[in-house]
Amino acid sequence: MRKFALSLTLAATEPVSTMSGQKIDGKSVSNAVKERVKSQVQQRLDRGRRAPGLAVVLVGSDPASEVYVGHKRKACDYIGIHSEAHLLSSDTTEEELLTLIDELNQKSEIDGILVQLPLPEHIDSDKVIERIDPAKDVDGFHPYNFGRLAQRRPVLRPCTPYGVMELLKASHVEVEGKDAVIVGASNIVGRPMALELLLARATVTVCHSRTRDLAEKVKQADIVVAGVGIPNFVKGSWIKPGAVVIDVGINRLANGKLCGDVEFEAAAENAAHITPVPGGVGPMTVAMLMQNTLEACEQREQEIAP
Ligand code: NAP
Repeated sequence: MRKFALSLTLAATEPVSTMSGQKIDGKSVSNAVKERVKSQVQQRLDRGRRAPGLAVVLVGSDPASEVYVGHKRKACDYIGIHSEAHLLSSDTTEEELLTLIDELNQKSEIDGILVQLPLPEHIDSDKVIERIDPAKDVDGFHPYNFGRLAQRRPVLRPCTPYGVMELLKASHVEVEGKDAVIVGASNIVGRPMALELLLARATVTVCHSRTRDLAEKVKQADIVVAGVGIPNFVKGSWIKPGAVVIDVGINRLANGKLCGDVEFEAAAENAAHITPVPGGVGPMTVAMLMQNTLEACEQREQEIAP
């Protein structure tokens, strides 16, 4: 498939005040990705082609999910991607949701379908994800897209790990041959992250809740990715001097502030590069969704064209 070479010329890193490391500026890298996608969408329109289309489906009224859906709609508006939001009540049945997915699969002006997770407990998320046409699976969670990534032939890649790879690239971090340790092994963060890093030829260790000697494993890592969902879980003292630290965690504290899974200040004293929370990985997820929607659109057109 067509590759989109990103020329991320913006400064992706800036010094962190109290330490020697560089803070990776996810906001500026994500803006560069969005500008790139925006100009590619404009080029399509100039050639008389239609705008890519994204459908976002939200079931229920989880406040965090509503915020994420809002960010996605805003990014679509800015870039010129046609977007439609399907806001369904929390008592929507699995059958009703699957029927909507079927309709969106058939809708020609929709290139990407994103079902905001988590879904209410009475709905089987796996069943819903598998119902999405893999060609429209802009979240990259369908087993087809996951499998293609595992086989080193990626098509639509899971947005958050894809975004992490763009951050590493923009920060000029060499991945090949490095020891990478991922803390967290979920289907949406840890596992696809492992596949991305493996694809980039790192040596990858994936840790989870049953991992023994976790601190010792992290201490060996050249690249640490944390996706656990526990505030300040990865201690600064575990970070090898000169390591690169990517914090995927987004945790809301009792005082309303957001924090990551890594003890930022202490880790920054050892790290060569580190992502903050907020302003690190978070903005990349939306930017890569925009890129995936454009890629899905162009890929579908190639398949439809005689
Ligand atoms: P999740 O599904 O709850 O998975 C958490 C992972 O952490 C699991 O693999 C779990 O192990 C592991 N874990 C839990 N306790 C542990 C422990 N004591 N030691 C080692 N590993 C442990 O969470 P998720 O959906 O992957 O999300 C993780 C974090 O990333 C959350 O803060 C979430 O908000 C954030 N997130 C951010 C973005 C973004 O755009 N930046 C996107 C998605 C998620 P087991 O597998 O053994 O249970």
